[in-house]
Amino acid sequence: MNSTDTTTFSSLPLTAEFLNNLKSLGYIEMTVIQSQSLPIAIEGKDLLAQAKTGSGKTAAFAISILHKLESQTYKTQALVLCPTRELADQVSKEFRLLARAIPNTNILTLCGGKPIGPQLASLERNPHIVVGTPGRILKHLEKGSLELEALKTLVLDEADRMLDMGFYDDISLIIDQLPKQRQTLLFSATYPDEIKNISNAIQNNPGDVRVESLHDESKIKQIFYEITKNERTDTLISLLLHFQPESSVIFCNRKQQCQDLAEDLRQQGIHALALHGDLEQRQRDQVLLQFTNKSSAILIATDVAARGLDIKDLQAVINFELSQDPEIHIHRIGRTGRAGSEGLALSLYMPSETPKLIAIEKYQKRPVTVADVSTLTISDDGFKKLEPLMSTLHISGGRKNKVRAGDILGALTANKEIAGKQIGKIDILDIVSYVAVEKKIAKKSLNILSEGKIKGRKYRVRLLK
Ligand code: ADP
Ligand code: MG
Repeated sequence: MNSTDTTTFSSLPLTAEFLNNLKSLGYIEMTVIQSQSLPIAIEGKDLLAQAKTGSGKTAAFAISILHKLESQTYKTQALVLCPTRELADQVSKEFRLLARAIPNTNILTLCGGKPIGPQLASLERNPHIVVGTPGRILKHLEKGSLELEALKTLVLDEADRMLDMGFYDDISLIIDQLPKQRQTLLFSATYPDEIKNISNAIQNNPGDVRVESLHDESKIKQIFYEITKNERTDTLISLLLHFQPESSVIFCNRKQQCQDLAEDLRQQGIHALALHGDLEQRQRDQVLLQFTNKSSAILIATDVAARGLDIKDLQAVINFELSQDPEIHIHRIGRTGRAGSEGLALSLYMPSETPKLIAIEKYQKRPVTVADVSTLTISDDGFKKLEPLMSTLHISGGRKNKVRAGDILGALTANKEIAGKQIGKIDILDIVSYVAVEKKIAKKSLNILSEGKIKGRKYRVRLLK
């Protein structure tokens, strides 16, 4: 067999339906972590896998789990623990896409910040696969509402982040209640000592797969700018105005700083949203949704909040503050320059932080480029270029009200004042929906929807800031 054969999904012992579905999702070639992990996972062995964010770790465990799933057995066969609800939602979504080839697979997400009643009802239907956050999973185990005696596979996804967030005890308590005979898959973006330790504690002779976390140098243009303490925000604005990225994530080390920076930018006429752990879950969902549907060009985030989120097409990553850890730095900047396009990674640092630069150089095994702030030119149209393309409308009805994307689209375009192509992403949630529309028709869309009806019913509609 030549080397290309072993990197296509068809080299795995999957059914034709499964392979067809992968193909329909555009999954032909395995990513590096997938081609190294899947044979081990499918064989049934424990696995310790490390690869950077965006490398396709979800499918690396989901495909193996689905391949082994006994869909006729109505018991929970796999449990995936994730650090945050956003991640759990993303993992479930990917599971559902991958499971389209297997009729009647029941995948349930169980996270905190959500009422427990509906979760209890869903558990009655014996999900095959449960994805959730440790706290809530533990709660269900304690209540006896989640039964895991038939569990075959446990996955710790983003294990490093779960440990950072203090989930070790909850995870241990969960594991105490699992069958001893099981497969344990541990996925992590970084490889600190704690990961080795937890692996030793809960795994049995795991296969060890690590994919180099350095990025393709040609894909990311990385520049550092030296600043003094009081120049931080001004220099950041100069960077934005000079490079005018269509989409960027700005990293801060602290939650409060995210919030403050978002406000400072807004005062200067630059729209930005902050994503951090002090926001309520609902607000975090909304921020992420606005960023993904292009209603904000700038997302300001902490590492914890941004970790693992599959945000595509980032033109730039900006480090408002350097991370303490060179490995985290490399992860942050790895979010730009995906899918063939060149990314931009810009970092601010103070002279006292020079040791951090040296640590980064050592880690990435090449020197860093430092540029002078005076090289930044600020054009008049800079502010305009940073304006988001879209605005988001919030509608007080969702799936439970039988609202569908087509209904919203229909309501907006009925009187022909708005064209379909001016309408962006539509997200239908349980009891609310969101629709992105071109910024310049935001007010008009708001009027149409608030004065008119959606499928014969009136809803409250408002414009998100
Ligand atoms: P990670 O967990 O490593 O951060 P994800 O599992 O979120 O990465 O995958 C990142 C993106 O890559 C997702 O949008 C996923 O759909 C896509 N993807 C994963 N594997 C493949 C593949 N083999 N071919 C094409 N796209 C893939
Ligand atoms: Mg992941």
